Amino acid sequence: MEHDMILVKELYDFICKSEGIKKASLYFKRVGKGGACCSYSGKKVYSIQIDLSRICIGAAYALCHEVAHQILITSDGNATHNKAFKKEEQRLVKAYANCSIARKLIF
Ligand SMILES: [Zn+2]
Repeated sequence: MEHDMILVKELYDFICKSEGIKKASLYFKRVGKGGACCSYSGKKVYSIQIDLSRICIGAAYALCHEVAHQILITSDGNATHNKAFKKEEQRLVKAYANCSIARKLIF
């Protein structure tokens, strides 16, 4: 678990750098439904929370999902799962869910 936290952080750093987005705080803690979420207000994302013990879809995928929220919240104030979101999520998953950092993840 410790190992994965470090890798998820590394992956988040890498995505932020590649995408040119501002890093929000990344927390590992218990999260309800879904196992990951982000805190935001208006167009500002404050933090991303990931519960490594609950995500069954893979940590890299969960992170891509939250980063997609972060990008769309920041650009449009859009926190929904609409078409634009799905497109952004897919783009990120394609670009990062299988990169060399993500492949080292256990979850
Ligand atoms: Zn979501």
